[in-house]
Amino acid sequence: MTAETIFALASGAGRAGIAIIRISGPGAGPALAAITGAKAGTGGEAGGSPEPRRATIVKLSDPETLVAIDDGLALWFPAPDSFTGEDVAELHVHGGPAVVMGTLEALGAMPGLRTAEPGEFTRRAFENGKMDLTAAEGLADLVEAETSAQRRQALRQLRGELGKLYESWRERLLNALAHIEAGIDFSDQDLPGGPGGVEAAAAEEVGKLVGEIAAHLKDNRRGERLRSGLLITIIGPPNAGKSSLLNLLAQRDAAIVHETAGTTRDVIEVHLDLGGYPVIVADTAGLRDIGDGGNGGPGVIDVEAEGIRRARGKAREADLRLAVFDGQAWPETDSHTAGLVDADTLVVINKSDLGRLAPPLIVGGQPGLAISALTGDGIETFLAVAAERVAGLMETTASSTIGPALTRARHREALEECRAALERFLAVTDGDKWSDKTPELAAEDLRLAARALGRITGRVDVEDVLDAIFRDFCIGK
Ligand code: GDP
Repeated sequence: MTAETIFALASGAGRAGIAIIRISGPGAGPALAAITGAKAGTGGEAGGSPEPRRATIVKLSDPETLVAIDDGLALWFPAPDSFTGEDVAELHVHGGPAVVMGTLEALGAMPGLRTAEPGEFTRRAFENGKMDLTAAEGLADLVEAETSAQRRQALRQLRGELGKLYESWRERLLNALAHIEAGIDFSDQDLPGGPGGVEAAAAEEVGKLVGEIAAHLKDNRRGERLRSGLLITIIGPPNAGKSSLLNLLAQRDAAIVHETAGTTRDVIEVHLDLGGYPVIVADTAGLRDIGDGGNGGPGVIDVEAEGIRRARGKAREADLRLAVFDGQAWPETDSHTAGLVDADTLVVINKSDLGRLAPPLIVGGQPGLAISALTGDGIETFLAVAAERVAGLMETTASSTIGPALTRARHREALEECRAALERFLAVTDGDKWSDKTPELAAEDLRLAARALGRITGRVDVEDVLDAIFRDFCIGK
């Protein structure tokens, strides 16, 4: 274990009512004693540390100059009952820059203390067995969560639901492996079930596991979508009101998270909270404007063709399409857009304020909603329908028996590897093809599968993935 003691501001930067500074490591107790003017020691009654896990009012001052820093609160969490598993002290000070800086400077001047790297507190928590890797990732997601659905998913993962699922699979695999190894080490005659009995039992269990893992993988990327946000692309002919609709969505006070120009000049993306779900709405308008505003000569057609090509590309990439038709032309519809309408498309017919739209409102077999981006008419219904569609694409259905959703490509890759190894196992152990070498090969496949699962939770050789995971954390976490 490391002997270094780390500290960092754990709360956000900038002015606030309070700021929290966290210290972790063997030097946390002496540092707390020094900055609060108590006698050094880590044993509570014996030394100067406050009572464990109780907020204590303290006066903070620079131990060298004795200049006052702040009046605050101290919390003392002796190892191993702390977030990191090490001795941890927390200082709650007034959240002004000079107070925070004075506290951090005083700590930095103490021997053996240094500023924490991003994610270092959580990494220590993992290394000391306080949480598995999926829980650490859940914590990172919880800090990043911008919508209620993201928060719920992250909290479930932080609480260990995903880790428990993967660990239970790994245990079942190790159990099957033990059966196969018993078959190798002992004569089949001596084992329950007689010759081939243990292998058959193991194969049955592995068959069940493959089914469960396959069901978990075939989740339509719900969990990953919920982390990253669902991509909705607005498509439609020029002047249908795509930009007006996007602006209307973006202006809803509660909805907008932030707005960024897309990677290409002609794509605008707006991040929204739609009924608790994160969505990125992309508007594909624009290239025709370059054509219209340009020289108007040859090439305009090409530019328009390029615009349609990009809109189609963006539309294909999307999880959900929003096809906007101009109600003024109704029942005539733009054929380019109508050609893109499918089951993953929400059809809206805009400009309902200009006159009644003759039913049936159906385009490409999909029912349409009449709206007016100008007056806001029909928008509430549209939002409710859109939120329901988005929820359907992101939430694991209530009828699901496969537990929490997979949330990261890292997990998916490891699970694919696990499944492939298990399928090899099933292929070699299948039927009459057994040879003398079969048990060894089968055992090796099970070992590989268990390793792949162990990598997700951090049970086995994960050194190489740790840096990648904890790098994404901020300092103080
Ligand atoms: P886009 O080219 O599809 O992005 O369409 P815009 O949003 O730029 O709108 C084209 C024109 O239609 C603008 O003059 C808008 O003011 C107008 N417009 C958009 N939505 C409505 C609507 O619901 N009713 C009416 N009457 N006009 C609209």
